This record gives sequence, structure tokens and C-alpha cells, in this order.
Amino acid sequence: MSHVVGFGAKRRPVGGQLGRATGGTCDPRAIGRGSQRAPVSLPHPLVDDDPPWYLRCLKGLVSGGLAMGDIRPVGGVSVEPLREHVRGQVLAVDDKGYDEARAVHNGMFDKRPLAVLRAEQVADVIAGVNFARDNGLDLSVRDGGHSAPGFGTNDGGLVIDMSPMRTVRVDPGNKTARADAGATWGDFNHATHAFGLATTGGIISTTGITGLTLGGGIGYLARAFGLSVDNLISADVVTADGKFVTASADENEDLFWGLRGGGGNFGVVTSLEYRLHEVGQVFAGPIFYNLEDADSLLRMFDEFIRNAPEQFGGFPAFQIAPPLPFIPENRHGDTLALAVVHWAGPLEQAQKVLQPFWDVAPIVANGTGPLPYPALNAAFDVLYPKGIRAYWKGAFVKELPGEAIAAHVEHGSRVPEVSATCHLYPINGACHRVGPTDTAFAYREATYGMVFLASWTDPAKDAERIQWVRDYYQALAPYSEPGGYINFMQDDDYGKIRDNYRQNYDRLVQVKRAYDPSNLFHINQNITP
Ligand SMILES: Cc1cc2nc3c(=O)[nH]c(=O)nc-3n(C[C@H](O)[C@H](O)[C@H](O)COP(=O)(O)OP(=O)(O)OC[C@H]3O[C@@H](n4cnc5c(N)ncnc54)[C@H](O)[C@@H]3O)c2cc1C
Repeated sequence: MSHVVGFGAKRRPVGGQLGRATGGTCDPRAIGRGSQRAPVSLPHPLVDDDPPWYLRCLKGLVSGGLAMGDIRPVGGVSVEPLREHVRGQVLAVDDKGYDEARAVHNGMFDKRPLAVLRAEQVADVIAGVNFARDNGLDLSVRDGGHSAPGFGTNDGGLVIDMSPMRTVRVDPGNKTARADAGATWGDFNHATHAFGLATTGGIISTTGITGLTLGGGIGYLARAFGLSVDNLISADVVTADGKFVTASADENEDLFWGLRGGGGNFGVVTSLEYRLHEVGQVFAGPIFYNLEDADSLLRMFDEFIRNAPEQFGGFPAFQIAPPLPFIPENRHGDTLALAVVHWAGPLEQAQKVLQPFWDVAPIVANGTGPLPYPALNAAFDVLYPKGIRAYWKGAFVKELPGEAIAAHVEHGSRVPEVSATCHLYPINGACHRVGPTDTAFAYREATYGMVFLASWTDPAKDAERIQWVRDYYQALAPYSEPGGYINFMQDDDYGKIRDNYRQNYDRLVQVKRAYDPSNLFHINQNITP
């Protein structure tokens, strides 16, 4: 039985969680809609409901729509009004598919939201934002679900899952693409590769385009074309008041500036428009070296990357050799030094450009060759399946002095799992041609964005794996910039927020105040208004 417990919004999250349809509905299509919820029996209009359901429908007709949050079971929030306003599924606790819908990539987070709204249209997003705001619910916004601190879910609140919205429309004449916010880089690259085009995205194909782009966007093409944000032309956004706006260089410029590095702080992005570049076949892949040559590899790489042609976009790393056919069987399981190389220039130049990698030390295994860019983007997906436990930290560095290289060798040599690593992504080249205050991404003069990453499956190893990451990160701290890349930061890194946004923090606060003054969007690397 439903009860009216008052009109108007509560600000903070409610304690209890019901999430079950208890009231009547004024939308006949909503009754028994698919498998998303248990069958709803209509209450007797004169006995069960207060006020009766038909009066609520009438009120909805008169006011132009049922007010979100008007109907709330005692002690919790009913998701029924939300269901009546959306085309996408609303999965609450007893619904089939709820457990799958609430899961994010990082298996460390096992949270139970009141409901997951699988948005199918911008209208669903508007309804979800209004519902969360008016009911004082915590709100998570999710695209690929890759957030290391599990921002894509929460306890007792609403999750807006954008993944059903993933169409990518390419304009080959203008070399642009407009993508729905739920697309992954796999979706995006598939669409653009058909035209021999690409833009800077991440190194794993299952990562969402939106979460990655809003933090900055580091990948193989960054030295050639800049970060993902440097290729963003415009974004459509639903803001905290439920309004739909477009942000670009000509419209809502302050929002456009904040979106390019400020994360999910300002609203729900529903689509993004990117500039594309001619990238089809690339020459790329992993080259493994003995661990004792890690020092030489890092020294060579640091010298090489200062002046390397910008079409080069690989990175050095530490890696336990997986059982891949091109790696000698007797080396499977050995900890090795790794260079992942990527050349997006003319293929016939690849061998010459990569000469330092052939010369630096004896090669244990060479997995390089020509391949389509989307294939490279998916090459390492298998190491990071959904549900794997993960803990990471990130840091920026301008230089790699001998002491820093020694710290890398010491901690990288102890890499504990095949899916644990440290990558040093170069972000000079085109990334340096954008000024440190031109976008919200703060660390324009850094040479590398480093990630210290452990992924594992056995919960008994949580403490050990986390400690390896922390020790490695601490060892490099003396050589690192004060803040890190917001997309690589953990849930215990909130104290670094100001440092992460650095000189751009105060302006980000101004943008936050303009678009989300009550901090509805707070489950992120949060800028408090
Ligand atoms: C295996 C793996 C590989 C990675 N590789 C790279 C890499 O190569 N380069 C790189 O730069 N980063 C990389 N990352 C980090 C990645 O950029 C961040 O984890 C990013 O937040 C993931 O985006 P997502 O959409 O998949 O995640 P989600 O968890 O869905 O989203 C993360 C956050 O982004 C915001 N967000 C997402 N969608 C929206 C939206 N529609 N509107 C508003 N806000 C939204 C929200 O605040 C959300 O909490 C990697 C992460 C993983 C797990």
C-alpha cells in the first residue's frame, strides 16, 4: 500500500529502501511491462490508495506530468513514478537483472542502489535526474563502468546507466563523429574505422568514452592528436535542474571548459562530438625484454620520447608474461620489462622509427606488426574482465631521473599478477600544445601520466595487492607532481582533489556553482560548490 508522505524534495539520501511498486499507475503501458519488475496488481481505488490513483493521474494531467517524488512509501522511495516516465528499464532490488545491472567493472564494489535506470533516451535521463534530485537520492552516472573507485554504483540511491545509448554517427566529410554517451571505445572505433578515421581514446576497448573523456583521455594517439578532451567539439548535457544544454566553444563555454577534465561534476552527458583523424592500419604491439634490461629500456624510452615523431604513442611497463603464442613457452609467467609500441604514421617508416626498441637490449618476444587500430585497442581487454578486483593510483611526472628509474625497477620487478602493472603513458607532443588553463585538465607540462595498477581475483589477496600499489606509488612520489590524473585516482585519494585540478580548481568551483549548486553530482572526484 502506498502513502503520501508529503510533497517536495528531501536533500540527502533516504535511509530505507523499498523500490517496489506499491501504488497505482496512470500509464496503462506500464502495467506488467516486461521482465523488469514483478507483476503489479492494481490497488482498489477506493480502499488501498490515498489519494486514489485516478486522482493522482488527474493531477498529472492537469499539471502536465506526475511530479517526481510525490508518492513515497513510508520509510523509503518508490521507483514507480520513475518507471512511468521512462522508456528504459528501471531495475530495483527484486527485479530480474538487478544484480547484473548494479555491478560495475571493479569487483571490489558490491553496492545495492535503490534502482538502476537503463537510459534509452535523453528524456529518460531528464526523468532520472529529476527523480534523484526531488527524492534526495544519491546519484551515480555510469557509462563503461570502469571507474576504479566504483563511482558507477552506490548504496540506496539511483544509478543512471547510459550503456543502452551507444549509437555513433560518423560524418566522414567533416571528419567528425557524434556518439551517444553510453558507447565504449570499442563501439566508437568500430564506427570510425570503417571510414579510416579515429580519435584519441583509451587503451582498452571496454572503457566508456564518456568517463574517460571527461577526465582528460590518455591513449595511443595522444601525442599525435592531443587528449580526448582536445578533440571534443561539443557535448549535450542534462544539468542538475533537469535542463538540456549543449556545451561547445560557442555555447555555454564555461561548462565546455569544465567538462574537459573536470569529470562528471556538472551533469549527465548524453552525447559527445569529436574531431577525427586519418588512422587506419597502425604498426603496433608488445616487445618483451629481460627484467635486468628494464633500466636500459626506461632510460632509452625517456630520451626517445622527448623528440620522437608524434605518431609514436606507446609506453614502457612491467608485465608478467602471459601464455601467448609469440612468447617462448619457457618464459611464460616470468616478470619482464615491456614496451608497447604504436606507430600511426606511414607503415613503411615503422621499422626505422622503432630502431631504438630493436637496439636497446636483447628481445625476449616480439608481438609487433601491422594491424587495424581497433584491434590494437582491444588487444589487452582479456587481462581486465568485468568483475576483476582492482586498485590503482596515478601520478604525473615531468622527468625520469635515475632515482625514479631505480624505484620503477625495484617495484616493477615485484609486479604480483599478470593483470597488475605500471604503465608510463607519454603525454607530450600535441598534448603540450594546449595550455594548462585552456581546459580543466591541469597537467599539460607533464611528460608522463603513470598508472600503478593491481587487478586480481582472490579476495584473500586484497590487502597484499593494495599494498603493492601503495608502496610503488609512494616510492615515485618524490619525483611526481602533487596531483594525479583524476581517472586513475582511488577512493582513498579524495585528499588530493585540489592538487589533481591544481590551478584550475577555483574556476571549476565557479562552474560547479553555476550548474550544480547543490552537488547532486557528487559521486565522482568531487568539486564541492
Ligand atoms: C581496464 C581499464 C583501462 C583504462 N585505460 C585507460 C586509458 O587508456 N586511458 C585513460 O585515460 N583512462 C583509462 N582508464 C581509466 C578510465 O578513464 C576511467 O576509469 C574512466 O572513469 C572510465 O570511464 P567509464 O565511462 O568506463 O567509467 P564509469 O565508471 O561508467 O564512469 C566513471 C565516472 O565518469 C563519469 N561519467 C561517466 N559517464 C558519464 C556521463 N554520461 N555523464 C556524466 N558523467 C559521466 C561519472 O562521474 C562516473 O562516475 C582505464 C580504466 C580501466 C578500468
